[in-house]
Amino acid sequence: MNVVIYSTKEWVRVAFDRTNEQHGFTLRYLETRLNETTVALAEGADAVCIFVNDIADRAVMEALAGHGVRLVALRSAGFNNVDLHAAAEFGITVARVPAYSPYAVAEHAVALILGLNRRLYRAYNRVRDNNFALDGLLGFDIHGKTIGIIGTGKIGGIFADIMNGFGVTLLAYDKYPRDDLREKDVNYVSLEELYSRSDIVSLHCPLNHETHYLINENSIGLMKDGVMLVNTSRGPLIDSTAVIDGLKRGKIGSLALDVYEEEADLFFEDLSDQVIQDDTFVRFLTFPNVLITAHQAFFTREAVANISETTFTNLSEFSERNACTNCIDVDSGYGGTSAS
Ligand code: NAD
Repeated sequence: MNVVIYSTKEWVRVAFDRTNEQHGFTLRYLETRLNETTVALAEGADAVCIFVNDIADRAVMEALAGHGVRLVALRSAGFNNVDLHAAAEFGITVARVPAYSPYAVAEHAVALILGLNRRLYRAYNRVRDNNFALDGLLGFDIHGKTIGIIGTGKIGGIFADIMNGFGVTLLAYDKYPRDDLREKDVNYVSLEELYSRSDIVSLHCPLNHETHYLINENSIGLMKDGVMLVNTSRGPLIDSTAVIDGLKRGKIGSLALDVYEEEADLFFEDLSDQVIQDDTFVRFLTFPNVLITAHQAFFTREAVANISETTFTNLSEFSERNACTNCIDVDSGYGGTSAS
């Protein structure tokens, strides 16, 4: 099986080469992202392997089919960047890695909360500059606070488990509430109630037509003054302009992001020598109460190993029987026209 791997980074190549020792597929690594311009590089491949900021919209799917590609293997859980309907139309199967390490993402969300609350990023730099003042570092006890979790799937459920240890009240909203979480004191409420009662709101739902810009001017208006907002899920769950306005007014007390709606032009690259053209992103960087990481929540040794192993299982199953356990059902997703 010939596989073209887009958006290759060193960690991908190392992990994939190691896993491929048991499979013997022909791998061609490309640093470029998949999009309409680069799709021609897939000529002759049976499968392409892509990540979160590659674009597999309708035009790309049509071109992939024209080049003979029959499988798009995502090395991510989220698949909002893939047009599933177009894939079905052009006879392309789409597979993903449904759970490489929900612990990695849930733990990173908790790390962001702790780091942001106590302004550890400021403290770290201050102490290195022999500045031992505490002004501007005042946090709050997480114990006793109310945490609102939107999306209680694999990651949201683990996040709830971890946060339970802090002695908090857990509120949740999900279209499909889980009885096992109810038994662990997770209280399912309406979105409105979650917004109005939560001191911290953490997003763990997928990006789809219902959740695009879930956090907007209206939902922010329903939140508590000084709320902490955390997004480790997908950038377009929040309307950046509305959130910046909320930060400026002090309505949003602090913000942690691991994802950003226009991250495809920024994240995963070293742009330290360049002038960043995205004014919205740069505005986020000016706030002392905003902590941003560049889509690293998934990035643990365990997760990388699982991504690699599951991707090769998907490729292997598909090459043997034209189907795989982790293939995505057309009606289950965003079916979007653009990547986040
Ligand atoms: P999951 O499918 O196990 O859980 C998602 C949950 O969201 C489900 O319980 C589902 O019912 C719920 N949901 C769906 N639509 C909803 C809606 N409109 N409102 C509220 N809840 C809704 O997925 P997961 O493995 O927990 O991952 C969640 C998301 O985390 C992924 O979709 C992905 O976008 C993101 N993610 C981010 C990273 C990262 O590195 N930052 C890594 C992996 C996943």
